[in-house]
Amino acid sequence: MGAKEKTLLSKIPAVHQLAEDLAQRYPGHPEVFYIRAARETAERLRREILQNGRDSLALEEIQRLAEEILSEVLRPHLRRVINATGVVVHTNLGRSPLAEEALEEILSVAQGYSNLEYRLAEGRRGSRYEHVTGLLRELTGAEEALVVNNNAAAVLITLNTLARGREVIVSRGELVEIGGSFRMPEVMAWAGCVLREVGTTNRTHLRDYEAAINENTALLMKVHKSNYAIVGFTREVSGAELVALGHRCGIPVVEDLGSGCLVDFARYGLRREPTVQEIVRTGVDVVTFSGDKLLGGPQAGIIVGRRELVEKIRQNPLNRALRIDKLTLAGLEATLRLYLDERLAVEKIPTLRMILKSPETVKREAHRLKRLLSRAGLPGFSFAVVPTVCRTGGGALPVADLPSYAVAVISERFSPEELHERLRVGEPPVVGRIEEDRFLLEVRTVFPEEFPLVVKALRNLVSHA
Ligand SMILES: *Cc1c(COP(=O)(O)O)cnc(C)c1O
Repeated sequence: MGAKEKTLLSKIPAVHQLAEDLAQRYPGHPEVFYIRAARETAERLRREILQNGRDSLALEEIQRLAEEILSEVLRPHLRRVINATGVVVHTNLGRSPLAEEALEEILSVAQGYSNLEYRLAEGRRGSRYEHVTGLLRELTGAEEALVVNNNAAAVLITLNTLARGREVIVSRGELVEIGGSFRMPEVMAWAGCVLREVGTTNRTHLRDYEAAINENTALLMKVHKSNYAIVGFTREVSGAELVALGHRCGIPVVEDLGSGCLVDFARYGLRREPTVQEIVRTGVDVVTFSGDKLLGGPQAGIIVGRRELVEKIRQNPLNRALRIDKLTLAGLEATLRLYLDERLAVEKIPTLRMILKSPETVKREAHRLKRLLSRAGLPGFSFAVVPTVCRTGGGALPVADLPSYAVAVISERFSPEELHERLRVGEPPVVGRIEEDRFLLEVRTVFPEEFPLVVKALRNLVSHA
């Protein structure tokens, strides 16, 4: 270490001094945050002096760095990111953003006390489920409804209630894994049921189910192939056929829809997906689906079906462990209310709005984002609008592609991988994607209100590089 380095190192203030200075300038936070920021500041400066070489160290520089690090330290760990992946229901990015109406209800219920389990008119204890069961009955046509923590919980408690210690018949073509921890055979085991697989991967016939039925059969189950499709030489037994068989043998039929939706996408020119209402109408005894996939609400598991079966599920002691919380209920009720008028639902629920946005609209928005970025005066950057294909994601409409548009970010300095990484860790974080050696910002999943933030993220990237 030379004399110059020594002099510079001696200019780094002591940690307690840096911390005190930060506390004075930005009061109101727990002391540990100031100390953490001060330590990190001192360390970074030391590293810079020793590794990168430095000619001077001004007080303003130290303060600016300390401020920057303090703002990083103060940031919550779970925070908002901009989804420029084009995957609308992105499980890793929190699935469905909520409608304004849902947010307002959550805020109002969370800020104070509520009638969560209290009937105001009668002044006595009520049930938390009452806030949404009427809506769910009305919207799906089912006799009864129950909501739990998520759809995995819905499947677990349904199987545990209706088939514990007994057999459940499922087609081999439907033994799905939905992202890591949810695998149908394992859920069956945890629910205490015996999985009875029938048919083959690509073909299952009604006679396969028929042949497997015995005195220990509790349920016939159908699982929606959420995240894959079997194509080619295939045969699948429809829900209606299964219902006919089940009713003939006196065995209830359960369908796990995964991503249940309440609007008919075919009406908007997309691939047909049976709605929950249609599934209920086929006579399936119990249907389960997610609250935060195509429904566009908060994380929840929704169970609808025959009154006596749903009532039995409700009374399962497991329900206490899987129960839905009040914030979710508030958001779910507000989301479901929008569905009472489909026009409102497709206008106000972000997930539906993003899926149903026409390619022309996405193209127009992409050009607007491109203009904003081009005008931001980012040296060495250029931008182009390119056609792409987006996915719904989240185990919803598995093979339905959405023609879309993205803004390709072309940089002289940064490779696509570098852009991808730097924007992810920037502020605000922007998650894009790389395709064919290009870094893309998919526009379908970015809220137009977020466009200025995308510009800001790129500006920050340039100024911090
Ligand atoms: C997504 C999905 C689940 C799990 O739902 P969560 O709400 O994530 O718990 C279960 N079954 C199917 C078919 C799914 O697509």
